[in-house]
Amino acid sequence: MEEQPGNPAEQFAMAWQIAAAALDQWRKQVAAATAEARDNLEPAARAAMEAARAAFGSGRACQCLCATAHPQDKGVCDGGAIMTRRVDGADVYLCAPCAVAQGVSEMPR
Ligand SMILES: [Zn+2]
Ligand SMILES: [Zn+2]
Repeated sequence: MEEQPGNPAEQFAMAWQIAAAALDQWRKQVAAATAEARDNLEPAARAAMEAARAAFGSGRACQCLCATAHPQDKGVCDGGAIMTRRVDGADVYLCAPCAVAQGVSEMPR
């Protein structure tokens, strides 16, 4: 199993960078499109999110309050958390589209 680059955290970091870049592009398309945009999610972004989700661990549901956290991009949530973000002193699980929609740019720790 030498193919795994580094540890899960490094894998996550790589996947996150790819996902963030791809989702940034995607988000611009969402602004012009509608709910269908989610079905047109860039394959690269989808793959990166899957990788990030695998690194993060499965089974976590996104806890984003989409309607208030990012009202412009309400429909982007894919429900599968890949990271946590501190909000008001509590860890909130976020999926990649929600994290991007919220403007998360810093690396999760
Ligand atoms: Zn959301
Ligand atoms: Zn979400």
